[in-house]
Amino acid sequence: MGAIKGQCLCGDVAFELVAEISHVDACHCTMCRRWTGSAFISADIRSSNALKFSSDETLKWYRSSDWAERGFCSKCGSSLFYRLTENDEFLAVNSGSLDLPSGLSLTKEIFIDEKPDYYALEGDRPRLTGAEFMASLQASNEEV
Ligand SMILES: [Zn+2]
Ligand SMILES: [Zn+2]
Repeated sequence: MGAIKGQCLCGDVAFELVAEISHVDACHCTMCRRWTGSAFISADIRSSNALKFSSDETLKWYRSSDWAERGFCSKCGSSLFYRLTENDEFLAVNSGSLDLPSGLSLTKEIFIDEKPDYYALEGDRPRLTGAEFMASLQASNEEV
């Protein structure tokens, strides 16, 4: 119920997320900023089954680290997905690609220590440095 549509800029990668999206999160790390052009604001999904493509011929994956890869459209260049190579349950979908309902809140910012001074996201929420974020993963045994 309530599938959310998503697509790249040209539309050749088109998909639906069959998931309840209650919030989005932002990553300010240098890699995400190079990849998206600024903060990577994503809806995080905990089930790979939630992603259903209607078109994915131009979708390509770039292995950005030992543990993750990033999906993009090879025709228009849109940054779309971040996934862990050893945990196919986790998927972060670029919020800009999604037709999200209004009223969603941004609940967490990570790698705040890598955010440049020329922008800031308003509002009160946890803002974790890279070290704090990595420590929180160890503590919760949750992978992002
Ligand atoms: Zn495209
Ligand atoms: Zn990042």
